[in-house]
Amino acid sequence: MYHPRSKLARDVKIAVIGNNTVGKTSLSLRFIYGDFHPGYFHTRGGDIYLKQIKVHDQTVNLKLIDTAGHPYQRSLIGPLYNDADGVIILYDVTSEKSFNALTDWINAAREHNCQEVVLVGNKLDLCQGSRRDEVARELKVIADQHNLRYYLVSAKTNLNVNRPFNRLFREVLQRKAVESMEKSEKDQFEVTETPTSGCFDCITS
Ligand code: GDP
Repeated sequence: MYHPRSKLARDVKIAVIGNNTVGKTSLSLRFIYGDFHPGYFHTRGGDIYLKQIKVHDQTVNLKLIDTAGHPYQRSLIGPLYNDADGVIILYDVTSEKSFNALTDWINAAREHNCQEVVLVGNKLDLCQGSRRDEVARELKVIADQHNLRYYLVSAKTNLNVNRPFNRLFREVLQRKAVESMEKSEKDQFEVTETPTSGCFDCITS
């Protein structure tokens, strides 16, 4: 449930992007509502979920954007994740095509000025034994090339689903805290710098 915004709450915009049918809607619904509905959801453009959550002692107004991944919609969805604080680039561990598209999505996230990015392989429940290790190795290679964190999850069984989100929240909140500290230091500096001569002039004239 989304409550009126508190002064202390931070707004955090997270987007889930990636090819069609990799499980973007399933992952979003799993994170927001905690359940899984089998079957394909046709996302037109993007769906937006709002949720207020606690991250440690901090309240976060989360805006989660579930985007459409069909190639003909890619230029349309760009504005939805422009300037996102965090992005989950999702692929399906059973789909080579979706894995091969990761680099394009990483470039798209950079072009759209997304701040924090993680790579996530979904549908891990469909992959057993040594195949899981292979999947992890393949993903690590591309994550290392781009200096990104990576996770393997299953929206269906709820395996590891919170981990990429928690990572993004931590990174985003840290960055926002530093930015607001820098801003308040800058404001203080400007306040003490400027008025000295102005005030003096006022008093003496
Ligand atoms: P989107 O197009 O990326 O939003 O993908 P959807 O969320 O609509 O999911 C596409 C299909 O994959 C649906 O049939 C889902 O039920 C299925 N799916 C999504 N996540 C998982 C998962 O973790 N495991 C399995 N086995 N199927 C999944």
